[in-house]
Amino acid sequence: MEKYPIVAGNWKMHKTTTEGKSFVEETINMLLDIEKVTIIFGPPFTALFDLDVKTPFFLGAQNCHWESHGAFTGEISTDMLVDCGVHYVIIGHSERRHVFHESDDWINRKVHAVLNAGMTPILCIGEKLEDRESDNTQSVLSSQLIEGLKGIDSLENIVLAYEPVWAIGTGITASVGQVNDTHNVIRQELKVVFSDSESETVPILYGGSVNPGNATELISVDGVDGFLIGGASLTSEPFTEIARQVEQHMKEKS
Ligand code: PEP
Repeated sequence: MEKYPIVAGNWKMHKTTTEGKSFVEETINMLLDIEKVTIIFGPPFTALFDLDVKTPFFLGAQNCHWESHGAFTGEISTDMLVDCGVHYVIIGHSERRHVFHESDDWINRKVHAVLNAGMTPILCIGEKLEDRESDNTQSVLSSQLIEGLKGIDSLENIVLAYEPVWAIGTGITASVGQVNDTHNVIRQELKVVFSDSESETVPILYGGSVNPGNATELISVDGVDGFLIGGASLTSEPFTEIARQVEQHMKEKS
């Protein structure tokens, strides 16, 4: 099956169930003619339950626990997500890593749990500003990849998202050159563990202040396979405009 670029929205802690439902309806109606883009809605857990979407639209969750059930107050299992029709789960988002102090070990357990449940993890990696300024971007990303993907044999059902922490929600976008270089670095690092062909083809999304003003230039960067979007995924206009720019890019390429 052909893999299309992904435009994934991470709503974070925004929208009630009712708001989410009307937003998804409105957005799908604006994108009925989309053919070559996979579009993922990433609502909070509560809104997932009441959403029902069909290809090319999919549901993504923002997190999960690695155990199937048990005394884990406040957590959600992969079975519960599958039951809500979820196909993708964002794992290791920078807010999970840096606000909620999730370790690489937890992130790795979650990646395994999502795969075992038949869903696709969107594993987020990204350096902080101080890492970039001290020339440690490559080592940070390498360690997040190695630890996050420990025990994984194949990249076939994995999506990666490169999200420099300094670009998330700040309005500062990584430059085309930075995105290009870093996606190349990520693919080189993957080759240490995985086959060349999987390392070259695993989808790597870019995330960090993507908006309709920069989407076309960023999707044109070699090695960028779509976007993970926060702020601009909360209203239909920018989100659908970004999806249209990605679709247009695909049409021009083919
Ligand atoms: C994100 O939350 O993953 C993100 C990239 O946010 P924003 O698009 O707002 O920078």
